[in-house]
Amino acid sequence: MAQRVVIVGSGSGGTMVANRLVRAIPEDVRSGKVEVVLIGAESTHVYQPGFLYIALGQAQPEGFKRPETDMLLPGVQWVPEAATKIDPTKKSVQVASGRTIEYDFLVLATGSVPDLDAIPGFREGGHSFYTLEESLRLRDALQSFDHGKLLLIIGVPHKCPVAPLEFLFMYDDWLRRTGKRDQIELEYTYPISRLHSLQPVSDWIDQLFPERNIKFQTFFNVETVDPVKKVVYTLEGEEDNYDLLVGIPPHVGAQVIRDSKLGDRDGWIPTDRLTLKVKGYDNMYAIGDATDLPLSKAGSTTHYESEVVVKNLVHELQGEKPVVLYDGKIYCFIEAGLDQATHISFDYNHPPEPSNPTATVHWFKLAFNEMYWLSLRGLF
Ligand SMILES: Cc1cc2nc3c(=O)[nH]c(=O)nc-3n(C[C@H](O)[C@H](O)[C@H](O)COP(=O)(O)OP(=O)(O)OC[C@H]3O[C@@H](n4cnc5c(N)ncnc54)[C@H](O)[C@@H]3O)c2cc1C
Repeated sequence: MAQRVVIVGSGSGGTMVANRLVRAIPEDVRSGKVEVVLIGAESTHVYQPGFLYIALGQAQPEGFKRPETDMLLPGVQWVPEAATKIDPTKKSVQVASGRTIEYDFLVLATGSVPDLDAIPGFREGGHSFYTLEESLRLRDALQSFDHGKLLLIIGVPHKCPVAPLEFLFMYDDWLRRTGKRDQIELEYTYPISRLHSLQPVSDWIDQLFPERNIKFQTFFNVETVDPVKKVVYTLEGEEDNYDLLVGIPPHVGAQVIRDSKLGDRDGWIPTDRLTLKVKGYDNMYAIGDATDLPLSKAGSTTHYESEVVVKNLVHELQGEKPVVLYDGKIYCFIEAGLDQATHISFDYNHPPEPSNPTATVHWFKLAFNEMYWLSLRGLF
């Protein structure tokens, strides 16, 4: 009898798992012994790291979008619908049309989303670059911003923990090149006692911020925004004014995870850090931003996790034990200006070590932006 693997979420992680799995067991998929079903709410696949370049006027949205069906290898059964309910007891997923899809193994790759309403007043008074629409709105605001203070506020958790830094460094560089830097003050804030969740990154920017004349404040958790007075108020009792407010709102997990009671209050899925199994469910994996793992929520995290999950699924489909463990590997490029970048690579046992930014690393990042579509197809 056929065994069915159902993957919910067709972003980076879900698409990679589906493609890698049909690549790993082509005969089983061709013969119908294994069915690989991908359920996704979006028919257009959007490369989210592109939002940074769009906001800063460095790229157009079209380059970062492809039809999801163009990304899928033959053998992946595509269900272009939102999952509305997951029932682990019945081993089934219900989709928006009311259809129920049963599974033998389930992979949850439902990602995370910024909660624009988490900070009252932010939606009215702030800008962001964490969705396509927001990045276009910020692009317009930046183009007409010619003097005053840009205040950057950050809520946690959020995906791509280095993207706010990239935004500031690229914008600082752009202002210098256009001769506007003296008219614009840049202020960075962070919710904990240091400048970044990763200590080595915090140490690195601690040196860089004074060199770039970027002011900063720590222990800065914005509670409300007054969009009329252009002031933010923090949980710590501070207030700060702004002329242009850019923020990364705290993120939450997908609604279907909360509705199916598979996650915590914010929808993060309890996940084993080594096996990537959803805690309490032997036939369910979670990857990417959707997990509750205290790791950087990044595409590269998702990428390495997808390799582990697919290898283990192959074992399990053959009746063997899943033996491959995730070591926490993550790799991130960090733009440090418009034409230089650094990179960090780390895992559960090795901290990141940012090195001096170079033009070469910047070109690697741009090259990866193009190669992403190949990685989705499981080519590397
Ligand atoms: C501005 C920005 C810059 C970034 N830069 C980088 C970077 O430089 N490097 C890096 O590694 N990462 C970066 N990231 C992070 C990276 O994009 C994410 O970490 C990555 O996409 C996570 O993959 P995922 O599969 O977990 O989630 P996603 O790719 O977000 O996919 C989740 C999918 O699940 C779908 N979904 C949700 N609910 C349902 C449902 N009920 N039914 C069906 N489908 C559903 C969503 O529609 C979505 O398609 C950046 C992100 C942003 C926003």
